[in-house]
Amino acid sequence: MIPRLKPYLGLAELLAAISFSDKDDVEEFEKAFAEAMGQKHALAFPYGRTGLLLLLQALGLKEKEIICPAYTCVVVPHAIVYSGNIPVFVDCEPNGFNMDLEKAEQAITHRTAAIIATSIFGYPVDLDRLDKIRQHYSNVLIIQDCAHSFAAEWKGRPVQREGIAAIFGLNISKILTSVFGGMITTDDEELHKKLKALRDRRLQKPTWKKSFRRLLYLLAVYLTFWGPVYGMINRLERSGMLNHFVKYYDHSKINMPEDYLDVMCNLEARVGLANIRSYGKIISNRRKAAEYYFENLGNQDARLRKQKAESRCLNTETCGLKPSFILPSKVDGATYSHFVVRVSDRDAWLKWGIEEGIQLGWLVEYNIPEMIVYGGYGPASFPFAAEYARRTINLPVWGGEKIAEKVVKVIRRSGVA
Ligand SMILES: *Cc1c(COP(=O)(O)O)cnc(C)c1O
Repeated sequence: MIPRLKPYLGLAELLAAISFSDKDDVEEFEKAFAEAMGQKHALAFPYGRTGLLLLLQALGLKEKEIICPAYTCVVVPHAIVYSGNIPVFVDCEPNGFNMDLEKAEQAITHRTAAIIATSIFGYPVDLDRLDKIRQHYSNVLIIQDCAHSFAAEWKGRPVQREGIAAIFGLNISKILTSVFGGMITTDDEELHKKLKALRDRRLQKPTWKKSFRRLLYLLAVYLTFWGPVYGMINRLERSGMLNHFVKYYDHSKINMPEDYLDVMCNLEARVGLANIRSYGKIISNRRKAAEYYFENLGNQDARLRKQKAESRCLNTETCGLKPSFILPSKVDGATYSHFVVRVSDRDAWLKWGIEEGIQLGWLVEYNIPEMIVYGGYGPASFPFAAEYARRTINLPVWGGEKIAEKVVKVIRRSGVA
């Protein structure tokens, strides 16, 4: 069975987890992370969402509107709400998964304090468009959400550097992992000082029990993703086993994990530090897999796509187009945390994939404003996000060309692409 995601965890990370040092591992990891992202400072947190929460507070924002994508990880608005601010959702752009920056600009009011610009699935935010907003509204802060993208580039400009700060997530489903964990990077000296002081005041040292639990979790991850075991586990996955590892939200509540105010564990920092050494390899695997899909799944669908774009039609059934398999766009500088294909019947695809030995992902599978806690809007209010939430699948990209080749063979056999 080919898993839908697989953290890049090898012997180095395992040894790092079980080795002990008297150095401050978290600080080491921060230094290496800042350097890898080309930024002056990085600060570690137990989760990316904790970083965002404290960042908004360090920036002194309260009862302000924070513009963010409707189609993003739900922990983002959760952190905004926890910080005492108000998330304002914006739909995706018509031909991509990122937030529509035209609509984001229209959403700015006198209460807007920040825009969270997310490079979802590793697609870099359009920095040319973002520059215009920054020129018109110099008082609105830009926070880059790089949890999916890490160092994605827009026309050669790394996105993480284009704002007051950038946030990153480091759980096992992300491009880089430190078991759990998150980072904030910034080039702003004053913000760095403030955020560090706030963090050191608000976060408490984890207990040894927690570090031990993290170790057990990591060992379970190794075991789960070990080839012979994964096939077996996959049967359990259908009843939610893998979800147990990567589940991070509850649709009915705005909440945070119990330990969201703990300092990142040293063990996690050591794993992250080992993992970051493979950053180049990890990204190149993803890009190669994406390239392979672009080349080999052809685009006999280009015609359909064009037709669709022209008619601006979102629903393949009602506009009379054939049910289709629509490849995502190819963008230079994207890091492809996910390779996201639009299909007309997701459930059928997921089921078919399992039968063929390929686990297909389905992320992000919700449109946040549709959740009751975020207003319970109908799908028509955010049509693109609603469409993507319902009709996308992810092809595995973690394994470079080798895995992509296997997946393409199976898809070709099916006659879809
Ligand atoms: C994962 C993720 C985060 C941070 O998530 P945590 O689980 O809190 O580390 C933030 N934004 C996006 C888009 C994400 O996918």
